[in-house]
Amino acid sequence: MPAVRLDAVSKVYGRGATSLLALDQVSLSASQGEFVCLLGASGCGKSTMLNLVAGLDRPTAGTIETGGKQIAMMFQEPALFPWLTVTGNVELALRKLDRKKRKERAAELLDVVHLGGFAKKRPHELSGGMRQRVSLARALAQEADILLMDEPFGALDAMTRDLLHDELERIWRERNLAILFVTHNVREAVRLGDRVVLLSSRPGTVIEDYTVELERPRRTESAEVAKLAGEITVRLKEEVSRHGR
Ligand code: ADP
Ligand code: MG
Repeated sequence: MPAVRLDAVSKVYGRGATSLLALDQVSLSASQGEFVCLLGASGCGKSTMLNLVAGLDRPTAGTIETGGKQIAMMFQEPALFPWLTVTGNVELALRKLDRKKRKERAAELLDVVHLGGFAKKRPHELSGGMRQRVSLARALAQEADILLMDEPFGALDAMTRDLLHDELERIWRERNLAILFVTHNVREAVRLGDRVVLLSSRPGTVIEDYTVELERPRRTESAEVAKLAGEITVRLKEEVSRHGR
């Protein structure tokens, strides 16, 4: 029983002459505890796919099953409330707890993302990487089984990204999450994924599904990661140039 299953999912935006086919019969599944990275050219429908899985929008055709599991989503921009403290932002996702429990839980989660000392700061006082950690803590607060991540580290420098990869990997393991992680960074996909799924240019459809056999922990700059990333990049370039013709 997969945690997430897309079966022949298509998405058309708009109607008539101006309609746009964003996804074309995408079939894909991820098990509980599996880390799946989605790679594809810009505009191929990656965000569309995550939005559909999150239930923010509905597919035009096909089915998506998540077995009633709790889903959390994290975007490229952390989308924090600037007038709330770090704790306040995390507590927003904990509203169903009473005040005392909420405080305790927020503090625990900030420890998990190594922001224990920054609880009372406001978002503008933090670096981009720290803001993304707050966003991750907020996503974790939702106690989700499925975590959808849409280019969450795309705006960060390489060193900060490395640190967050390590943290995300640890949290993923501890919580046995199913993760769908969108990126256009091939090395990042190979560093993190149990699988790397390649989407075609628009309309998006699955063209390759690589299983990454490399032992963990992996290093983004390692020769093994570079080798597989190189192979995948060749395939991705083929796809982009085929589409451009
Ligand atoms: P990606 O995340 O892979 O860059 P998106 O899923 O954002 O791609 O977009 C896929 C295609 O659908 C793009 O051509 C985009 O312009 C179009 N699109 C996305 N959202 C909408 C929308 N709400 N209405 C109309 N077109 C959209
Ligand atoms: Mg996108």
